[in-house]
Amino acid sequence: MILIGLGANLDGVYGTPDQCLQECSNLLAGAGINVIKLSSIWRSAPVPISDQPWYKNAVCSVETDLNPHELLSALANIEDEAGRTREELNAARTLDLDILSYNDKIINEAQLTLPHPEIHNRSFVLYPLREIAPNWVHPILGKSVDEMIAKMPKGQEIERC
Ligand code: ADP
Ligand code: MG
Repeated sequence: MILIGLGANLDGVYGTPDQCLQECSNLLAGAGINVIKLSSIWRSAPVPISDQPWYKNAVCSVETDLNPHELLSALANIEDEAGRTREELNAARTLDLDILSYNDKIINEAQLTLPHPEIHNRSFVLYPLREIAPNWVHPILGKSVDEMIAKMPKGQEIERC
């Protein structure tokens, strides 16, 4: 299963963060990435805590013929088209598209780490992930989504929209 995490907390080319996430299926399809399942949109506090606007987040599963590096660069192009500027780490953004997992492959490169190294620490990944892939097991930690939610650092505010 190929899993992608979506996030946005600034208005951009496609409108509000909600509108941008709703446009994502079309944007991905245009790049040869077909959405199979898409979670609800969730509203989450910025991690680490900051005075940025809250994020809108979702997770989707996709099918694509692109390999992991091709997929990463296709996602970066879509982020750019959505008006993303690349500033400092954790800056507010119009669209963030992260590869969470690519068929459970393990890759350790600065440019591409798989599975995404923060999955187990982020409520805004785990709650939407549970909606679409409740049986997924982290290929390194060997933990289910529910087990990761139970062990997650406390205090990350999140609600389903
Ligand atoms: P973040 O998503 O952590 O807030 P960025 O979206 O600015 O940060 O991404 C920073 C870099 O992370 C990208 O240039 C990309 O090469 C790298 N990266 C490493 N692993 C992944 C992954 N699994 N998915 C997306 N980007 C990744
Ligand atoms: Mg990213």
